[in-house]
Amino acid sequence: MSVVNSMENIVDTALEELLKEDPECCRCEHCMDDMKCLALNALPPKYVSSEKGVLFSKISSAMGQQRSIDIRVACINALEFVKGHPHHPKM
Ligand SMILES: [Zn+2]
Repeated sequence: MSVVNSMENIVDTALEELLKEDPECCRCEHCMDDMKCLALNALPPKYVSSEKGVLFSKISSAMGQQRSIDIRVACINALEFVKGHPHHPKM
């Protein structure tokens, strides 16, 4: 058993979905980390004490529709920001 912020899993999944719809956005390590940080900082953490993997479906079904909209909006904002201000080294 360990304590994890389940919002991380949720944001990972939401960002993956959004990136599928946005082929122009950079997917390098720097940009992925920046997007995840921005989205997580905009959302309340959701700590759970559970085995990894088991918790995700439980949490997502327990979350209300408003919350999932908030998560999507936070991820869209993060993606748009990183697209406009990429921090990766010049390639
Ligand atoms: Zn990048």
